[in-house]
Amino acid sequence: MYESPLDVPKPAWRQEEELDIFSDAVGQFFEKECVPHVQQWRKDGKVPLEIWKKAGEIGLLGASVPEEYGGAGGDFRHEAIIIEQQQWKGVDGFGITLHNAIIAPYITAYGTEEQKRRWLPGICTGEIVTAIAMTEPGAGSDLQGMKTTAKRDGDEYVINGSKTFISNGQSANLILLCVKTDPTQGAKGISIIGVETDKVKGFRRGRNLEKVGQHAADTSELFFDDVHVPASNLLGEVEGKGFIQLMQKLPQERHIIGLQGVGMIERAIHETVEYVKGRKAFGGTIFDFQNTQFTLAECKTEATVAKVFADHCTDLLLKEQLDAATASMSKYWISDLQCKIIDECLQLHGGFGYMDEYPIAQMYADARVQRIYGGANEVMKMLIARTL
Ligand SMILES: Cc1cc2nc3c(=O)[nH]c(=O)nc-3n(C[C@H](O)[C@H](O)[C@H](O)COP(=O)(O)OP(=O)(O)OC[C@H]3O[C@@H](n4cnc5c(N)ncnc54)[C@H](O)[C@@H]3O)c2cc1C
Repeated sequence: MYESPLDVPKPAWRQEEELDIFSDAVGQFFEKECVPHVQQWRKDGKVPLEIWKKAGEIGLLGASVPEEYGGAGGDFRHEAIIIEQQQWKGVDGFGITLHNAIIAPYITAYGTEEQKRRWLPGICTGEIVTAIAMTEPGAGSDLQGMKTTAKRDGDEYVINGSKTFISNGQSANLILLCVKTDPTQGAKGISIIGVETDKVKGFRRGRNLEKVGQHAADTSELFFDDVHVPASNLLGEVEGKGFIQLMQKLPQERHIIGLQGVGMIERAIHETVEYVKGRKAFGGTIFDFQNTQFTLAECKTEATVAKVFADHCTDLLLKEQLDAATASMSKYWISDLQCKIIDECLQLHGGFGYMDEYPIAQMYADARVQRIYGGANEVMKMLIARTL
């Protein structure tokens, strides 16, 4: 099922046989239910809601949510395997990892018992599709400058403002919205509020934004005009904790971007080796050129270093020891490498590599945003530099 072109032995966290069985099942799900539709999803600009329900039925949603809330009771090892298989099969656009391993953990870690019981079971079946909305037109890297407000009014909050670039924004019916509950404060004024879009008035989705790549992933502007939500939707029910909650959970998101990078690199090298060995030129194949061999040897070497480092970060994460700086290294260094390696691989495809129907062309476009979202790579370097 998973024929990585890298010869990296299984890390310690990956030894249990149960994980191989899980990996095969995940691979089969992507192969059968997603791969035949990916090109259509890219044209549509989003994935259909049915695929969320199908993933829920086989236990992929909420893979690491505790069983008592409807999840599979796994941990980050299962999420890492889903990422690996999703990249290997080229199923871009299905925001399962965002839903499972970035958003659900906020509720599991900070939600009240009532919030967990209200939201997690639907997250696990696919009846609830989630998004997390931090970025605003005027505040991206500098989140403390966000302007969206939630004003307490009796037992409700009244929300006003707008967000942009929100993944799953067209499909989500539960949005973890970052707001200022105290606009006079910076970080200390930020809170996270769950907005159940089917239950409120004044919420509007903007355009499904047209992007350079990742065409099957919907990305949207969201607008909130006097949106009333119950006060019990405040994550953890204590105001002003949002920034700390983000800082605690962003390392996992950043390492996930690193893992996605490694997965796409493996696929790019695999695709390229197959291509250059089959393509004839000058009485041989493209692979026969020493330049091709050296280029791919360098790609394989760098990819191996990246995979070993990513496995190390996963190990730290599982031990709850992955700090912000190390997660930033995973995010920035691997996403930079991903773009570099995919560029080299595209070059070896010649003109065909520039044709959108070739996987390498799609990977080239899809990879670029990895250096921007989840915190721009320059911001990652700033976080690393603070530890020097
Ligand atoms: C496809 C896509 C999906 C996204 N999904 C989501 C989502 O689901 N939820 C969400 O909340 N956001 C999402 N985002 C937003 C994303 O996280 C932001 O775009 C990103 O954090 C950068 O913010 P910005 O675009 O405002 O850039 P800016 O903050 O304007 O920064 C522009 C550039 O300036 C430089 N820069 C910024 N700060 C520094 C610094 N301190 N030091 C040095 N250089 C710096 C960097 O080169 C940076 O790329 C998504 C974005 C995209 C493109």
